[in-house]
Amino acid sequence: MRTQTTTEKDSVGNTGEEVPAVSVRGLHKRYGALEVLRGVDLDVAKGETICVIGRSGSGKSTLLKCLNLLEPPDAGEIRLGGERITGSGVDADAVRARVGMVFQHFNLFPHMTVLRNVTAGLRHVRSFTRQAAEAAAMAQLDRLGLGPLAHQRPNRLSGGQQQRVAIARALAMEPEVMLFDEATSALDPELVKDVLDVMRALAGSGMTMVVVTHEISFAREVADRVVFMDEGLVAETGPARPTLENPRTARLREFLARVL
Ligand code: ADP
Ligand code: MG
Repeated sequence: MRTQTTTEKDSVGNTGEEVPAVSVRGLHKRYGALEVLRGVDLDVAKGETICVIGRSGSGKSTLLKCLNLLEPPDAGEIRLGGERITGSGVDADAVRARVGMVFQHFNLFPHMTVLRNVTAGLRHVRSFTRQAAEAAAMAQLDRLGLGPLAHQRPNRLSGGQQQRVAIARALAMEPEVMLFDEATSALDPELVKDVLDVMRALAGSGMTMVVVTHEISFAREVADRVVFMDEGLVAETGPARPTLENPRTARLREFLARVL
């Protein structure tokens, strides 16, 4: 166990007062000769929203995939609510049920209705009865303004609606943490706001979120903290607004100059 002698935040933002929702230490991942994650340390407090920014290829998606074990890390440790999820003897499906993930491409099942897309995980992973799954699914769909679309096929929906269905599907599983990987990057510009508004409301509701995004203004307004990844490492992290307005590192300054 880590011991903490002060209430000052350490380098990964941990106050030591509560077990983090997510804790990553020394995470390494390589694809062949390419070392994609080179020792990532990151804590996410319960209820915190973190935005992960960084140039293409810096390892952001790989980090998210490691967090819900879509990719096995090569070394290092990941804990969810204090519980180790890396190493041997871990039920990866059980972990994935605790970590919701929303991708750039919505990955909805095209042959199923919206409702069936949302109930599938509840029925097959959480063993809900059909009735209980439909009640839980409708509650999420209504919450995101999608109730009237429950019996449509995804291809009848706009991209923004489809992405909101993907969010409802993840939320229906009652995850401890939600991961978003460029959830608005594939959307037409006029549809981006709807999805960002849902994410903003979710952050405000106290969900723990790790959001990979190119939307710097969203990060500035919604994130508690930004994490800047560079070449497989966390190169800078800090409270969103001051870090984005006044970066400490030249690398983050350069990155922001390029994207803003
Ligand atoms: P980001 O999301 O920051 O753009 P990624 O995590 O997707 O970065 O990728 C980091 C690097 O790892 C890139 O160079 C990418 O080409 C490589 N990479 C990602 N996934 C794979 C894979 N499955 N096999 C081989 N290389 C990969
Ligand atoms: Mg990516």
